Amino acid sequence: MADGLTGDGALLALSPHLDDAVLSVGAALAAVAATGRPVVVCTVFAGEPVPPLSEPAARFHRDCGLGADAVAVRQREDLAAVAALGATPLHLPFLDALYRRHGDGWLCTWLGAHFDPGLPAEPELTAEITAEIAGLLRSLRPAAVWTCAAIGGHVDHRLTLATAAAACAAEGFRLARWEDLPYAIGRSAESGQGRLLTGPISAAHRERKLAAIGEYRSQLGMLFPAGGPAWRSAFAGHAAARLETHGAEELVWSAEPPACAHASGSGLSPSR
Ligand code: ZN
Repeated sequence: MADGLTGDGALLALSPHLDDAVLSVGAALAAVAATGRPVVVCTVFAGEPVPPLSEPAARFHRDCGLGADAVAVRQREDLAAVAALGATPLHLPFLDALYRRHGDGWLCTWLGAHFDPGLPAEPELTAEITAEIAGLLRSLRPAAVWTCAAIGGHVDHRLTLATAAAACAAEGFRLARWEDLPYAIGRSAESGQGRLLTGPISAAHRERKLAAIGEYRSQLGMLFPAGGPAWRSAFAGHAAARLETHGAEELVWSAEPPACAHASGSGLSPSR
């Protein structure tokens, strides 16, 4: 299980979207919550857009079977999923890339544009999110902060990682990064990410994760179009594969490179 958690502070998981933390590290979060430590799952891009929407956003809603109240539905799914882990949800008001404007138009002009590494920078948004996360760190004073490693390259995942890193640096907290799922399913793990903080997971916590994922009904059909039990076997298969190669079913890396692991001691306690 996640090592190095000291003191009685919360584990703060900074999730880009309303599903990422649960999909990626739901079992680890459930295991930490089961020890009695508060676990806060804070979703950065959980804001509700004001119509009209772009064509890619409307298409995404159709693909998910969602209507005009798409984000409200997804927020409710997240409340149920995070509660199923024994954690506390928190939703920040920033808009998903699909809903964001850029200049006179949209940031994403085609479905899939959010993976384009050439999207324009958003310095004002970056500063706003960094300030929001910094404020959260000051008020919550968590024992550990986790976010995504931005594997897959989604612009919102890259922004979450960048702003979390900037806020943690400014406020004196270490930041650990998780392997983004389902993006990493079927791929070998990225090397050189740092020291692993996670280990084997109990069957009970594995089941809690799967129960929590099941709450994201609008997303499962889009992420796993084959339907039925496909998503369950995909996550279980990935966990088994990582357990075999890494000794951990969900990968969370400390900020330090592997060579520093023994010198740094606890990777999950605040650095001040
Ligand atoms: Zn995401």
